[in-house]
Amino acid sequence: MQRFRFSLATEWVALAAALYFAAVCNARFWSTLLAAQRDAPGTPLFAAGTFVLLTALHLLLLLPWSSRYTLRPVLTLLLVANAAVIHFTGAYGVVIDTSMMRNVLQTDTREAGELVGAGLFGALALYALLPVAAVWLVRFEKRPPLRALRRKALVAVVALALVALPAGVYFGRYVSFFRAHREARYLVTPANYLVATTRAALGTRRAVQGPRRPIGEDATRGAAAAARTKPAVFVLALGETARAANFSLNGYARETNPRLRQAGVVNFPSVTACGTATAESVPCLFSRFGRSAFDADAPREESLLDVLQRAGVRVAWFDNNTGCKGACDGVETRQLDRSCGSADCYDELLVDETRRLLGEPQEGPPRDVFLVLHMKGSHGPAYYRRYPPEFERFVPACTSPQFADCTDEQIRNAYDNSILYTDHVLARLIELLAGLGERYDGALLYVSDHGESLGENGLYLHGLPWSVAPSFQKQVPMVFWASPGFEAAFGLERDRLHAVAGRDHSHDHVFHSVLGLLDVHTALYDPALDLFAPARTTAVATSPRQDAVPR
Ligand SMILES: [Zn+2]
Repeated sequence: MQRFRFSLATEWVALAAALYFAAVCNARFWSTLLAAQRDAPGTPLFAAGTFVLLTALHLLLLLPWSSRYTLRPVLTLLLVANAAVIHFTGAYGVVIDTSMMRNVLQTDTREAGELVGAGLFGALALYALLPVAAVWLVRFEKRPPLRALRRKALVAVVALALVALPAGVYFGRYVSFFRAHREARYLVTPANYLVATTRAALGTRRAVQGPRRPIGEDATRGAAAAARTKPAVFVLALGETARAANFSLNGYARETNPRLRQAGVVNFPSVTACGTATAESVPCLFSRFGRSAFDADAPREESLLDVLQRAGVRVAWFDNNTGCKGACDGVETRQLDRSCGSADCYDELLVDETRRLLGEPQEGPPRDVFLVLHMKGSHGPAYYRRYPPEFERFVPACTSPQFADCTDEQIRNAYDNSILYTDHVLARLIELLAGLGERYDGALLYVSDHGESLGENGLYLHGLPWSVAPSFQKQVPMVFWASPGFEAAFGLERDRLHAVAGRDHSHDHVFHSVLGLLDVHTALYDPALDLFAPARTTAVATSPRQDAVPR
């Protein structure tokens, strides 16, 4: 029977896997490369050289793991992960970079569960089943350790040469290709998710270690705050995945904001987010750094919320999302998204919780309240689970988390229903704040964390690297409302605010605008980034800025 059994050196199996990676798992990379090089001379040879390079590169990656004991589990893991990545990049047009993997690492099981479906299992069956079976059926050749090592060294030298040769010959062509098509380097699989996961894991560990650096230790309230008779309540409704283009307040052809229009809000039609994913844009929004200086992996420091608390404001964070991504550290937090049993919690829960908080008797003298409501908004792909049935106004709506089951029109209908529901939730918040006039002066600022792609150019969801993300993922809706009492107390003129609202704004403005509006004095405050400053009658005296952003 011995002659029917054949065994292979582990290096051959690693080479077969590397060939499979290069040929089968990189379809999107190849289509990008070939589309870009179609009219250039010598493209067949260039493509062949790139294929050799890609194969040799992955062989080098596998060599350290190519012992008889490690190769099977490592290849199984990679083949399964590859199939998942092929599915997600193909189905949603996402690319795998550090911030995407940071999101994956911070996602909870319920959120991830919405992404699991028939499409994913199909991809696993198509791309992983046979090669994994082959990896476990093949017999590995047994060799003395020294001979095995010599052979690995030889393979490594040959593979290095096969990387160096095309890289040297086509150096200029690669540089110009990757410069013109930045997304291409996030398409090389499995190198993309191996590098990104390592970087995200290291960064995440670094970021959560140690205490946060204090900022704004000089923060105090100004005279305007002290002279008031009633406490103020400022609600920051932090939206999720709402894009500016689908707000009818911004000119969208469908009426998705009927109630906000009636409520007489000030609309900001041009607002740029700080990132294209929650894990990036939410911490950035509350940091003193703007988008260009913010670094999610830098050692952490305190945020706007700490500065407000230091100035004597009561700060609370109610979360119907999957958590605050570190932005609510040190703040009274109520995590609400698991309070609805097996059902999804709709965002109106945040209105009820706000009513409860403001109805609670306060200890000590009345204090101003700054409340963050982290909404579930339009989080995809299961948009249809973000709103109660009576908000299914745009039909037929996609009711599957698998976009492949729906047309783009059905996907857009479900998304627009979730926007319509957000409009309703915000209007209810305004009603609540307006009804508190006897006890509180209320104001509401709504801003979304990032936008969303709904099939434009084959892209879905969000999280593309900033340099290649379409404006649908970057432009977010923002509206402001204040009660007459709040406007009077803080010297805000509605007409003047309407006049400046049309300018270009961004998440960078939130930090300074909240400080300015609530009359918090600190050297961190930059009036140039306070969007309310041109609309205030009482000029807020500010101490000179000594501490310009140091990075
Ligand atoms: Zn988000």
